[in-house]
Amino acid sequence: MRRHCLWTEQSCMKQSYYNYIIPDNEYIYWYNGLTNKFFRLSYGLSRKVQSMMDDYPDGSSLPDVLREHLINSGFIIDDGFDELTEIRRRHRENVESRNYSIVLMPTLDCNYRCWYCIQNHLTGSKMSLSTLEKLKRHVDYMIKKENIESLYIDWFGGEPLMYFNEIVEPVTIYALQQCHKAGIPFGVSATTNGFYLDSETVVRCGNLGFRQFQITLDGNKENHDKVKYNGSCVSTFDHVLSNIDRVIDFIPNVNMILRINYTHDNISKDIVAQVNKHIKSSNRKAVLISPHKVWQESVDKSFETVMAGILEEFSKSGYRIQSWNPSQGFVPCYTNRKYYNAINYNGNVMKCTACDDLHKPDGPGRLLEDGSVEWMDDTAVRYTEPTFENPKCLNCKELPVCMGLCPREHVMGRDYCKHIVSDTTLQTSLINHLRNVYKTIS
Ligand code: SF4
Ligand code: SF4
Repeated sequence: MRRHCLWTEQSCMKQSYYNYIIPDNEYIYWYNGLTNKFFRLSYGLSRKVQSMMDDYPDGSSLPDVLREHLINSGFIIDDGFDELTEIRRRHRENVESRNYSIVLMPTLDCNYRCWYCIQNHLTGSKMSLSTLEKLKRHVDYMIKKENIESLYIDWFGGEPLMYFNEIVEPVTIYALQQCHKAGIPFGVSATTNGFYLDSETVVRCGNLGFRQFQITLDGNKENHDKVKYNGSCVSTFDHVLSNIDRVIDFIPNVNMILRINYTHDNISKDIVAQVNKHIKSSNRKAVLISPHKVWQESVDKSFETVMAGILEEFSKSGYRIQSWNPSQGFVPCYTNRKYYNAINYNGNVMKCTACDDLHKPDGPGRLLEDGSVEWMDDTAVRYTEPTFENPKCLNCKELPVCMGLCPREHVMGRDYCKHIVSDTTLQTSLINHLRNVYKTIS
């Protein structure tokens, strides 16, 4: 209930701590981090509104229509409303959500050898029949005992499609059928290098319900072919891009995430023409270009400008561009969610795949015969803790769009701010995001 001041008719109100007011050429964007509501005003009008709110933080000097809009969008809030309590509530709700996501790794082996890959290509690593059976029991266990409300599988590796026939297809069919019987939604995707997506595999993936693939390029053609080679293939760049075009031809409404791993040396504008050569104009809307700096590269804020030019060219050619999306579900990373696990080829269970847990002979968790997961330590519990309960994050204006430290760093007892290792500031990310939104709706 809205409280009222003793002396006036107006309710007691204040400005949200999470208002971001960001100039961008002739506009100023207004964005509220807690509600994910936004609008833009001309530069002059915005400055006028800001100055009125500086004088009267409850917005009482503003025209009624504007004040009402600011209240409904969370820019002006009830004096008694504790935004931190709300952030904690939303965090817990999302951590506990029973929409179960699993990353499944049928192997850590791969048909390529990339210099940066953390997974060290464990030749001969392949999920056994007995682990495959435990995986099926796990699906049953989560549906019947944990009462999950949906199931989402992402096939990952190594290269998961190396074992499409023996592992990916049978497990996907099983999970699909069990979810259908239980009346809960099922989704499936693959993070793959795209090498094995021939016509037959694509049709089978389409029939199984695959609606998303993530495939990586390592910079432009010359660099990609140097990093990713396979004895029988002249150019893996050409091969994979023509496979991508085929996937889009065969699978309606597919979301094709084309991840571009870039370094200081592997990226230039010619990548756009090289990709265009393989992807038909009519198929480009299905492709989401997703740039990622290779993690071994040093932080360099000037990279932003180089990449912005390349992304602009991709956009002009008809592709979608991934921009940072601030409405991220009130968790700092998906690993923070209780109903999220990654399951390795040997039945080991972990939370984060970007760490040494992948190569440990045991644990931190493992699949049991009845399909449950046994954790050998407190990893699972610690990953679901709020990582923002420290003075720096609690006072940070970016809290609702960041949600705190990387859970792995938190578990390891480290506390450095995520944005120190990012090339991009929140301000730039927000501007890019809002520009994209306005481009789509105008
Ligand atoms: S990790 Fe950094 S940016 Fe994120 S909430 Fe904490 S202090 Fe803020
Ligand atoms: S390294 Fe941190 S942010 Fe990245 S996936 Fe692992 S837990 Fe999440």
